[in-house]
Amino acid sequence: MQIEIILHKLSGHAKEGTVGEVVKNPGDPVTAGETLILIETGKGVVEVPAEGTGTVESIRVKAGEKVKIGQILGTLSGEKAASAGAPKKEGFSYSIGPAKPVDRELECDITVIGGGPGGYVAAIQAAKMGAKVILVEKESLGGTCLNWGCIPTKALIRSAEVYQNIKNAEKFGLGAGHFPADIRKIVHRKDEVVKQLVQGVGYLLEQDGVTLLKGFGTLEDGNTVKVAERQYNTTIKTGKTILATGSSSCLLPIPGMDSLNVLTSTEALSLEELPRKMAIIGGGIIGMEFAFLFSNLGVEVTVFEYFDTILTVFDEDIIQTVTASASEHGINLITGAKVNQILENESGGCILQYELHKKEKYDLFEKVLVAVGRQPCYDGLDLEKNGIELTPDKKGIQVDETLKTSCDSVYAIGDITNKIQLAHVASHQGVVAARNIMGESCAMDYRVVPSAVFTFPEFATVGISEKDAEKQGLSVRTGTFPFAANGKALTLGESEGFVKLIEEEGTGVILGGAIVGPHATDLIGEITLAVKKRLKSEDIAETIHPHPTCGESIHEASLALGLGSIHFV
Ligand code: FAD
Repeated sequence: MQIEIILHKLSGHAKEGTVGEVVKNPGDPVTAGETLILIETGKGVVEVPAEGTGTVESIRVKAGEKVKIGQILGTLSGEKAASAGAPKKEGFSYSIGPAKPVDRELECDITVIGGGPGGYVAAIQAAKMGAKVILVEKESLGGTCLNWGCIPTKALIRSAEVYQNIKNAEKFGLGAGHFPADIRKIVHRKDEVVKQLVQGVGYLLEQDGVTLLKGFGTLEDGNTVKVAERQYNTTIKTGKTILATGSSSCLLPIPGMDSLNVLTSTEALSLEELPRKMAIIGGGIIGMEFAFLFSNLGVEVTVFEYFDTILTVFDEDIIQTVTASASEHGINLITGAKVNQILENESGGCILQYELHKKEKYDLFEKVLVAVGRQPCYDGLDLEKNGIELTPDKKGIQVDETLKTSCDSVYAIGDITNKIQLAHVASHQGVVAARNIMGESCAMDYRVVPSAVFTFPEFATVGISEKDAEKQGLSVRTGTFPFAANGKALTLGESEGFVKLIEEEGTGVILGGAIVGPHATDLIGEITLAVKKRLKSEDIAETIHPHPTCGESIHEASLALGLGSIHFV
C-alpha cells in the first residue's frame, strides 16, 4: 500500500519549518519509526519518521525548502505500522533538542565550493596532485548534472525510447500489446540511476582523501570559507578557493510564473502523473529534449519559441532534420511566438497567452515547462566585497585562461563562468584550475568542445559550424553522408540524419563536424579527436572503420570530400 509521509508536528508551537536534511531517498528500504527527513525550526530539529515498513517511493521536498504542518512530504510503499497514523501524545515526530552547531576551524590547500561536475572533478584532480582539499556541497554531490540535469534527463529519455521501441515492435516482426507508460516507475528508475552515480562520486572523493563538508559555503575572503553544517559552524583557512556553484533555471519576467502548474526542468524530472497536454516555453536544447521525451511518453506537447526556428545556434540542416522529426512525432512547434502571461484556469491547468504574427492568442495546458536558460548561482560568494569581477555582460564570473578570477587566490569554474554551460566543460575547467593552482601552467581552450543533444534523432556537433565559418569569413568545404545509405542504421530502423565534416578549403584540415542520427552523441568523439589534432579528411579516409557500424558514415563523409563516397552518389 501507499503510505504518505506527513509532517504531523513541529517543535513548540511552530507551524512552519525548513527541511534540514533528506535522510532517506526514493528507493531506500525503511522500517517503521526510522527517520526519513529532518525539519529545523528556531526551537530545534524534528525527525519525520516512517509510518510503516517498506521502500521510499517519493520525496517531494529538498533541503532548504519551507514546509508546513500537515504537508505531505513524500510517499512510501509498504505495510503501515499498527501504531501509525495520528501523532502520539508526546509527538510521533519528536524534538531532539535545539540544533547547536559547534564552532570549529579547519585548514587546507584548496577549498572547492560546489560539488557538481566542475567542483568534484577539480577536488579529485587537486587531491591526486597532492593537495589537501575540502569540498563543500549544500545539496547533493554531482550537482545539476547528476541530480537535475544530464543524467536524470537521459535516464527518462531512455525509458521513453524503450517505450517507443515496444510501440514500434511490429515493424521489427514482433507482436506487442499495449503497455502503459507508468511515470512513477520511470521516475523511480531514474532516481536509482542518480543514486548510484551520486554514491559513486562520494566513494571517489573518499578514496582520493578529499574532505567533504555538507553545508552552505560562504566566501569570507579569498582565503577563508565558512560552512554552515548541521553539527558545525566551520571556518576553513585555505590557500586557494575554487568557486563551482553552478547555475539554476531562469524564469520569464511575466505574470503567472508562480502558478502551481508552471514547472522548471528540475520539477519536470519528478512528475507523479503525466499531463495530457503540456506547453514548453523555449525551443533550445533543454526544451527540445523534454519535448521529445514527453511526446514519446504520449503527452501532447506544444513548444513555444521566440525565434523563428528551434535550436537556433545550430546549422540549418540540423534544424531541418530535427524539426521534421518533431512534426512526425506530433510535437506542435510554434516559432516566432512571445509568451506574455500564464493565467490559472478555474477547472485546473493554466491558460497561456502569447503573441504570434502580431495577434494575441490563448491556449490551455495542464502543465507549462519553462526552459529558457540558466543563470549563475552567486549566493554566499559576496563577489563585490571579495573583489571578484563579472564578465562585461554580467552573466558570469570573469576568469582568465587559467580560470583565475580578479581575486588572486580565487578561481571559478563551470556554469558560474558562463563560458559554455556543459558538464564536460565544467569538468575540464576543474582540471585546468587544479593544475594551475598546483603549479603547472595550462590554459583552457574552448575551440574544440563537443555538444550532445538527446532529441529524436539525437545529434552532436564539434568545432566550427557552417554558420560560424560564414560569420568568421572562413572558406570551408563540407562532405556529408546520409544514414539512409548506411547498412547498420537501416538494421536499427533509424535511417534519419547524416554525418557532415567541415574542412578548411585548401589545407583539408578538419575544423568541425556534425552528426544527426543513431549514436550521434557517441560517434562525435572521432570527429572531436580529428579537430583537436588538426587531422585532415584524408586521415579519416585512410583509416579502416569497422563494418557494419554507424561510424562508417564518418568514413564515407570524409570520402565525400575527396573523390566521392563509395556508397552514395
Ligand atoms: P552544477 O552542476 O550546477 O553544480 C553546482 C553545485 O554547487 C550544486 O550541487 C549546488 O548544490 C552547489 N552549491 C551552489 N552554491 C553552493 C554553496 N554556496 N555552498 C555549497 N554548495 C553550493 N550538460 C551536458 O554536458 N550534457 C547534457 O546532456 C546536459 N543536460 C542537461 C539537462 C538539464 C535539464 C540541465 C538543467 C542541464 C543539463 N546540462 C547538460 C548542463 C550541466 O548540467 C551543467 O553544465 C553542469 O552541471 C555544470 O556543472 P557545475 O559544476 O558548474 O555546476
